[in-house]
Amino acid sequence: MKTLVNTLAEDTVKELVAVRRDLHQHPETAFEEVRTSGIVAERLRALGLEVRTGVAKTGVLATVRGARPGKTVLLRADMDALPIHEANDTPYRSRVDGKMHACGHDCHTSILLGVAKELVREAPGLKGAVRLCFQPAEESGGGAETMIAEGALEGPRPDAAFGLHVWQDLDLGQVGVTTGPFMAAVDEFTVTVKGKGGHAAMPHLSVDPVVCLASMVTALQTIASRGASPFAEVVVSVTQMRAGTAFNIIPESAWMNGTVRVFDPGLWEALPGHFERIVRGVAATFGCTVEIDFHRFNQPTVNDPAMAALAREAAAEVVGPGNVRDDIRTMGGEDFSAILRQVPGCFIAVGSRNAARGLVHGHHHPRFDVDEACLPIGAEVLLRTTQKYLGTSP
Ligand SMILES: [Zn+2]
Ligand SMILES: [Zn+2]
Repeated sequence: MKTLVNTLAEDTVKELVAVRRDLHQHPETAFEEVRTSGIVAERLRALGLEVRTGVAKTGVLATVRGARPGKTVLLRADMDALPIHEANDTPYRSRVDGKMHACGHDCHTSILLGVAKELVREAPGLKGAVRLCFQPAEESGGGAETMIAEGALEGPRPDAAFGLHVWQDLDLGQVGVTTGPFMAAVDEFTVTVKGKGGHAAMPHLSVDPVVCLASMVTALQTIASRGASPFAEVVVSVTQMRAGTAFNIIPESAWMNGTVRVFDPGLWEALPGHFERIVRGVAATFGCTVEIDFHRFNQPTVNDPAMAALAREAAAEVVGPGNVRDDIRTMGGEDFSAILRQVPGCFIAVGSRNAARGLVHGHHHPRFDVDEACLPIGAEVLLRTTQKYLGTSP
């Protein structure tokens, strides 16, 4: 994949792949990114940067200061892997059973380290400052929020923030920069339905939580089909259900877990109440009781129009205007949204799919892998966006 511009030093490009493969072989899940953050801190120190470690347990912060005064921009990479067993058979496959970089956060960490190296090299000509934020626990939620709580946006407060995600829905060589809402708000629900157990042959002597739960699953779909405008984006997915121990026993209780995702702020505000009304209503119909846990993960990831325009300009320089998409949206969520709620910025999607090489598996799939030619593209786009924002374009 040839890009239109490549200002990255040759050693930086080589390191992008080497670091990504090293991290890929040693995946660490939420708030346990000890080895990963150790490597990040070590590499940043080797660049002569002052490094703050232990932010949000395993997060790392460092600042590249330009020679001239100016604005502060925050660049963020997430570092965590997923509890998935890798099914790929590459030389750099995960060496940890049951853990895998199946979302590409190894790529993000490697890209930001590459960008850091380039920025340090350019520091004499740089205006302002760049805060590098390596955060833990994007997948389980709470990483970005905890980094913010522990000072990631303080002293001085960044004027803008940028991050990126490698993107398997986009072919290598394409970059997605969406104006406004880009990724959905994410809620997780857990419901325990309690009835009265008994013999399967005498259901009238029991209160069956399984039939109740089944009705709930169906009724909850009306949040999307009847509770929201047909033009609104809403997803309700029940993803886990558990009940019972034998074919002839009506169990005491049944359990489910799942997620609701929306874009619209009004719908988001109303969701917990709407959800609870349906669940309690169905439970009452069947004479069951319920316990509900409704956990709010992320609000929508919303790109600032001016920052998106800047990122789009940078991306067009790297991959050509015809390869920059402005229509990418997903019901997936991102905790970078927590930063974007406080600081105007943009989250960029960097195409990483390559069908010709069989690199087609989606995020969180056990055979997820990217075309690593996306790494220099991501680094170049992030670097140029930063330079444009600080007013030190090459
Ligand atoms: Zn993910
Ligand atoms: Zn991710």
